[in-house]
Amino acid sequence: MDVLFAADETRKTFANLGLWEKGLWYVLILVSTGIFAWGMWRHARKYLRGRSAFTLDRPGRRVRRAVTTTLSHSWIRRRDPVAGLGHLLIFYGFVVLFIGTAILAFQDDFARPILGFDFWHGWFYLGYSLFLDLFGVALVVGLGVMAVKRGILKPFRLDYWRPDRAEGEYDRKPYVIGDWTFLGVLFFLALTGFLLEGFRIAIANPDFEVWAPFGWLLGQMFIAGGLEGGSAESARLVTWWVHGVAALGFVASIPFTKAVHMLVSPAGVAVRDDTAGKVLAPIPADAKPEEVGYGTIADLSWKHLVDLDACTKCGKCHEACPATSSGYPLSPRDLILDLREQAEGAMGIRSALHLPPLHEERESILGDPIRPETLWSCMQCMACVEICPVGIEHVPIINQMRRRLVEQGEMDPLLQGTLETIYTSGNSFGEQKRKRGRWTRDLDFEVKDIRKEPAEHLWFLGDYASFDPRNQRVTQALARVLNHAGVDFGILYDAERNAGCDVRRVGEEGLFTSLAEENVKAISACHFERIFSWDPHSFHTLRNEYPQFGGTWTVLHHTQLLLELLEAGRLMPKPLGYTVTYHDPCTLGRYNGVYDAPRQVLAALGLELREMPRNRDNSFCCGAGGGRIWMQELKRDDTPRPAEMRIDEATSLGKLDYFVVACPKDVTMYEDAIKTSGHQGEIELREISELVLESLDLDTVAVGAAADERETNGKEPV
Ligand code: SF4
Ligand code: SF4
Repeated sequence: MDVLFAADETRKTFANLGLWEKGLWYVLILVSTGIFAWGMWRHARKYLRGRSAFTLDRPGRRVRRAVTTTLSHSWIRRRDPVAGLGHLLIFYGFVVLFIGTAILAFQDDFARPILGFDFWHGWFYLGYSLFLDLFGVALVVGLGVMAVKRGILKPFRLDYWRPDRAEGEYDRKPYVIGDWTFLGVLFFLALTGFLLEGFRIAIANPDFEVWAPFGWLLGQMFIAGGLEGGSAESARLVTWWVHGVAALGFVASIPFTKAVHMLVSPAGVAVRDDTAGKVLAPIPADAKPEEVGYGTIADLSWKHLVDLDACTKCGKCHEACPATSSGYPLSPRDLILDLREQAEGAMGIRSALHLPPLHEERESILGDPIRPETLWSCMQCMACVEICPVGIEHVPIINQMRRRLVEQGEMDPLLQGTLETIYTSGNSFGEQKRKRGRWTRDLDFEVKDIRKEPAEHLWFLGDYASFDPRNQRVTQALARVLNHAGVDFGILYDAERNAGCDVRRVGEEGLFTSLAEENVKAISACHFERIFSWDPHSFHTLRNEYPQFGGTWTVLHHTQLLLELLEAGRLMPKPLGYTVTYHDPCTLGRYNGVYDAPRQVLAALGLELREMPRNRDNSFCCGAGGGRIWMQELKRDDTPRPAEMRIDEATSLGKLDYFVVACPKDVTMYEDAIKTSGHQGEIELREISELVLESLDLDTVAVGAAADERETNGKEPV
């Protein structure tokens, strides 16, 4: 104990400071913490004005998640380990230096004067010095990594280019200045901290200070340069004040600068809704038109207001977004930043300080700053939500603004027409209900009408699988495979309606509700054990969103069912030996986490799978999702469309036999993209069921040929 707290190895915090100087220091601390507290209170007040969001269930788990993801940086390191490492070094450097300062304050202001206990000596002091010195270096290295990233490497995600505005229409200089100031201030604090240490060591050069190796090295350099004794003390005193005032200034600035993310981002991770974007909240039945969706900043929920401040401008969502990279006027990062500016101008610090608003209207968000074409560009693919390191929920925010546009009747005419078609016919093709089961006519066996006789499985088809000629071939292939495996299944025939997944995602909640209610009623009247679908959109909505309407069943994607059949030996495929790549549909992968079943099916068929660089949770949307398949083109330049980019990505892997998909909309999008991207003849598309059928050596030609010739009324998908 004596050695641990030996009296010699220590230093004086307020060495050579008079009483008034100490008094001034404590006054500055009070001013700094007062400004900090006021700023944070303004933020809290802003969040309190938000609408209620959802129940904060399982608080222990939420806190654990925030702590573990923050400490491990697991979300920050994803897909950019270098920036992740830089941030990790800054984080731990800053936290350790902060804790070190807090320990010092505890010692000087509480333990020694009040408890009479002085612990800042001996081994404790030496260990403390070593620890803070090393973590100070970590902070500097981390800042260096980030500076190189921003200043030299300049990746696309950090360049602040906006896809929704022409050059000159926007000014991102304040953000650039803010980013560099944040790095610069942290660097200045670390630098002045080391200088302070070096000057102090240069005064008397005690041997034990070698425990602060980098400070000691600086001290030796100062001594070698003739700076020691009294002159070193003068330099130390000046640096003490500069460092101290800068540190207090930094604390005071936290609520007003990029530094606020240090507090709000972990909070955002803690309150993140695990089902955000996947399960959309219903509109309360008694909601007035002005309460539907988000039309003003005051409409946002408190959670979404927290999200706006949590954004670190890392640009990961900007980089992952298929709309941004293919020339649509949307960047999820800019959307969040625009909303943040609006929230600040309407009810945050900017408004409290009476600074002029950045946009014409203080409260409104639709039109200015968020343009309708920005909202309609979104494919609701969840790539942004999935990669955001601080748990921001772009997809439900966009969906809420779409709801308000739909409520106001501000839709593109094509979308409006499709919604009317769905309303009148129950499907997006405008086909008569009785034609939904027509694809079964070409089969050489009966498909049960599950409304009339029970079956083990209810097959929910979806519109594309029912009516689109190319997709009907897949549907028939799957039916033959299942029949071959002896699966007992039936369909709803004309009782099935569009499942409503994309209707909900475009913001037409009223139509979605009526579709869901009709389907739940029809399905509930049938007798079955499980539901399956080869349409990931239907699969997703039946599985995750119909429980809001009383429909709670076991729902499978057909790849999961096929895998079960293969594993049970009910399908005995012959190895096909093709080389293929597989595209993860957003609604199957990111929405539902089904990544392995399709790959295991492909492996069971003896296929060599060559993965595209963007696979699994990093998959790239085909461009059809979120109702985009029903809307007019909004692209602003001639960059390839998302599906064309994906085909380019696949063909860059070398010679492949097939581009394999597991979604009807992907069949449509990629068949088209193979032609328009100029890769026709290089690669062909297959839905997974078609490969399973081929591996079974059944008569595959009969179904395809019959389907080609069958009557389709000459209708194209709407
Ligand atoms: S959901 Fe997809 S398309 Fe929409 S903003 Fe996010 S990444 Fe972009
Ligand atoms: S929203 Fe998330 S991913 Fe996008 S820039 Fe902000 S912190 Fe980064």
